[in-house]
Amino acid sequence: MDNCLFCRIVKREIPSKIVYEDDLVLCFQDIAPKAPVHLLLIPKVHVASLNDLKDEHKDVMAHLTMAIPQVAEKMGIKESGYRVVVNCGKDSGQEVAHLHYHILGGRSFGNTFG
Ligand code: AMP
Ligand code: ZN
Repeated sequence: MDNCLFCRIVKREIPSKIVYEDDLVLCFQDIAPKAPVHLLLIPKVHVASLNDLKDEHKDVMAHLTMAIPQVAEKMGIKESGYRVVVNCGKDSGQEVAHLHYHILGGRSFGNTFG
């Protein structure tokens, strides 16, 4: 996907602050953080949103999910806790059409949403 912002970050065409990478996934700092730690964890393969997942993505999505606590540990928020958010579609406010987990930590969110 030539025009996809996050695909371009994967290809290093756009700079980012990478905190974790392996064959299947990339994790980098959000450019407009909403918490002291705000990371974006993405599959390297282009998938626009949760609505676009297919059977062929099962392995990468399992890998992506399993990477969350590894990244949290590396960033020092595993024990204090963190919030994982996935936006999907217009009403969610999804801005970048490449599936991503927001991983937010370093402060308390209480039990509120929104
Ligand atoms: P969403 O609204 O769920 O699509 O989230 C997109 C996120 O991408 C937002 O939190 C943005 O701050 C973040 N973002 C946009 N451009 C960049 C970029 N070049 N590098 C890192 N994060 C970005
Ligand atoms: Zn993409």
